[in-house]
Amino acid sequence: MSVFRAKSFQNHENVFFCWNAKANLRCIIAIHNTLRGPALGGCRAWAYQSEDEALDDVLRLSHGMSYKAAMADLALGGGKAVILLDSPDVRVTEKQLDAFAYEVEKLQGRYITAEDVGTTAQNMIQVRKITSHVVGLPRAEKGGSGNPGPVTAHGVFKGILAAVKHRLNQDDLSGLRVSIQGLGNVGAVLCELLHEAGCEILVYDINEQACKKAQADFGAQILPSEDLLKAEVDVFAPCALGGILDKDTVQMLKAKIVAGSANNQLANQEQDYQLKERNILYAPDYVINAGGLINASFEGEGYTRESAIKHVDRLADTLLEVFAYAEREDLPTGIAADHIAESRLKKKGI
Ligand code: NAD
Repeated sequence: MSVFRAKSFQNHENVFFCWNAKANLRCIIAIHNTLRGPALGGCRAWAYQSEDEALDDVLRLSHGMSYKAAMADLALGGGKAVILLDSPDVRVTEKQLDAFAYEVEKLQGRYITAEDVGTTAQNMIQVRKITSHVVGLPRAEKGGSGNPGPVTAHGVFKGILAAVKHRLNQDDLSGLRVSIQGLGNVGAVLCELLHEAGCEILVYDINEQACKKAQADFGAQILPSEDLLKAEVDVFAPCALGGILDKDTVQMLKAKIVAGSANNQLANQEQDYQLKERNILYAPDYVINAGGLINASFEGEGYTRESAIKHVDRLADTLLEVFAYAEREDLPTGIAADHIAESRLKKKGI
């Protein structure tokens, strides 16, 4: 396995391989950069096919966190951790979490952990018994910032407003048709916000109950998965899985704007160009969905949701900056966002 020559290495400051036989812990902590501040990023517990796959995942995610924090204008760098599980049938154990927490503590605050796929807010309470370098604790815990979903939804809502202003030259959302894919922590709250703003809403979720609730509460129209993608709407908001925008689905879209919370919405960079060619305005995922990260970054004794939300509101101006830069430079918006993030990192000395 090559680390320095791995494609995803991308100038990481540190990569720590941690092993604790007693706890059966195999974990990798990647710190992409700490120039803007300590590296914040969740801890994923996953049964990877190979160590190479785990390394690639942690490096890619950690690099992404640097860009996300820079675009959210936080005094934070990017990092991530992965715990390698033995099989898909097992969950992370208390012993593994304790051993992981010791590794985080050893880094003396250069890396701050949080929950991610395969770990929970409850797990983070356990981690905090050993290290204070952890965020994403429930509201019931002292200083805890709680479920980030509603704050992320608020950010996506503000991002949609910015995209509508840019693409449709309209200051509000009333009368617009918006499709939402995925009605979980983020999508369900977004549905409510859009309903309050006077939108007509179309939805699909694999969870039938979630669809029925959106229909009952907000008059949402339920469509089969593919019909949702093909629907004549102003905005398509992907709030479920990553990779939803591939060659074929982008071709199907009749939306004028794509703006949602899902991470890694583009199957690959070609779709960034494809969306531009089709004149569909794409709000880059890591810019519009930064509300959760911003919320967690405010965690601590003085935490108030109001102050977190105030910072999240700034995300709309950042998106407008991305759209304007993309137009000026004749670039797809995803690449435009990367350029701005890189320039923000360079200003700090990279
Ligand atoms: P969630 O797990 O609460 O909800 C996801 C929803 O998507 C579920 O209701 C699920 O049934 C549905 N779903 C799964 N597969 C689907 C499919 N094929 N088609 C339609 N629906 C499907 O997750 P969440 O916290 O709401 O996050 C949604 C997305 O936003 C994820 O990609 C997540 O990584 C991203 N995100 C979330 C946050 C946050 O604060 N929660 C922050 C940043 C990014």
